[in-house]
Amino acid sequence: MAVEKSVDELKMEIVEFTRRLYMRGLIVGTGGNVSVRIPDSPYILVTPSGLCKGYLKPSDIVKIDMNGRVIEGRLKPTSETHMHTEIYKARRDVNAIVHAHPPFCMGFSCAGVPLDKPILPEAVIVLGEIMMVDYETPGTMSLAKKVAEAAKKCDVLVLKNHGSVALGENLEQAYIRTEVLEEYAKVLLISNLLGGPKVLSEDEVRRLRGI
Ligand SMILES: [Zn+2]
Repeated sequence: MAVEKSVDELKMEIVEFTRRLYMRGLIVGTGGNVSVRIPDSPYILVTPSGLCKGYLKPSDIVKIDMNGRVIEGRLKPTSETHMHTEIYKARRDVNAIVHAHPPFCMGFSCAGVPLDKPILPEAVIVLGEIMMVDYETPGTMSLAKKVAEAAKKCDVLVLKNHGSVALGENLEQAYIRTEVLEEYAKVLLISNLLGGPKVLSEDEVRRLRGI
């Protein structure tokens, strides 16, 4: 049985994975946000608003309840707090969420082109179906509700004209999904430029997904 992580360990994990997101260019400036559910509690830990996520300290992480109220922390929680809390309410199995702004993925999201071509086995296995969510103003409850509704059906979402949302049983899984999503978007764009990808057969996709 997996040993549950302490709040301090979870804060350290958020610091580590947001640094990786920033170093890999999956977020820039003050964009993106990350959260984890604190085991056996009604609380979550979220990144603060307005700071560059590449240089966070554990003490910058904010503890909030499922209504977005701050329980502990000196900084303001992310402006996308509602998006995180609504997803956790909709998906009891999700313990971590990464919202990033990966440039190749955002290119597809801005062009309204779906990321739905099965071309890479790893992407098929790790990402599953990728849903595109219609544009809503960032930080609003209407965006949060739309994302949470779509999240009932998949673990990876692309927000039109905005960015990505990846869910996980833990933060590492949500992070890996974000990395693989961006790699997949990049390879799909390159193969489009080279005359179009040769997609995997439906049988192969079923085999990869273990259906
Ligand atoms: Zn965003």
